[in-house]
Amino acid sequence: MSESRMLFEEQPVLHEDPQPDPLYAVFGQPVAHSLSPMIHQRFAAQTRKSLRYEAIEVVPGGLAEALAAFSARGGVGANITLPLKAEALRIAAEASDFAKRVGAANVLSRIASGWRAENTDGKGLIADLAERHRLDLRGRRVLLLGAGGAAHAAAFALLDAGIGELYIVNRTPERADRLADRIGEPDRVHTRYWQDLDRLGAFDLIVNATSAGHAQQTLALPSSIIGARCVCYDMSYSLAAVPFLAWARAAGAQLALDGLGMLVEQAAESFLIWHGVRPDTEDVLAELRAHLPAQAVE
Ligand code: NDP
Repeated sequence: MSESRMLFEEQPVLHEDPQPDPLYAVFGQPVAHSLSPMIHQRFAAQTRKSLRYEAIEVVPGGLAEALAAFSARGGVGANITLPLKAEALRIAAEASDFAKRVGAANVLSRIASGWRAENTDGKGLIADLAERHRLDLRGRRVLLLGAGGAAHAAAFALLDAGIGELYIVNRTPERADRLADRIGEPDRVHTRYWQDLDRLGAFDLIVNATSAGHAQQTLALPSSIIGARCVCYDMSYSLAAVPFLAWARAAGAQLALDGLGMLVEQAAESFLIWHGVRPDTEDVLAELRAHLPAQAVE
């Protein structure tokens, strides 16, 4: 037998199992109707990445355990949605400065010591307003309705983007006060009672960060808060955005926008964190708009 043939026969033929695609998921409750799996799969196809992306329902208090099981299955990145964003920050081994300021995280990335927490909701909002809709936010007089998790991210992001003044109005006024205290900029940030809205004058931008639209509830808002070229932005989308956007149009807003663009932009920022490339968002947004029951009005 020739030497070369012997060498060939002595080499074992390796039949390695192909590596499974990296695993990502969105965690929340409820989460079954989340658009994140579809958005991330579209981004992956566009950037030629192979990944798996699931939706995992988790009860409040159960995130650490769910993440441990997810990690054991190869999970390397998670989006976090209602009502787990504060819990995600608490259990993270490290966190970005913005997530710490907001007090909530919507992105977790696997690191050696556990999970790194980040918050891309604020960047998503600013990308939609300032880049897609080309709004110059600097110096603007802004009204923020709501003081929950989404309002926290919006408040910090809008202030970072250079708005002039922020008025926070919430159904439960103590929560608005707590948010203002957390921000700690009394010269720029003010809280007011809902019943005093008609005494606040006109705004350049009104952001609805309440979840009232999910119950098809219409907020009691005076038209006097609409400024000359006012933009009204509802962070919710689809049917949940209909009551506020209908009010905004009727009250004379120049632009009435829903939060679908923000949703896609925050997902693109998550994708950038995990994959090092920021996907183009326009096609995915157009696809979502074509399939969701109600659309943004401009
Ligand atoms: P939270 O539950 O943390 O906060 C809900 C807020 O809505 C609170 O300020 C609450 O007031 C207020 N609210 C609820 N019902 C009413 C009502 N009938 N009248 C007046 N105020 C009401 O929710 P989130 O902050 O996480 O989410 C808020 C909205 O933002 C949701 O519609 C969500 O879908 C949307 N969102 C969109 C994102 C996007 O990417 N587009 C990202 C994150 C959120 P109170 O304190 O008095 O209870």
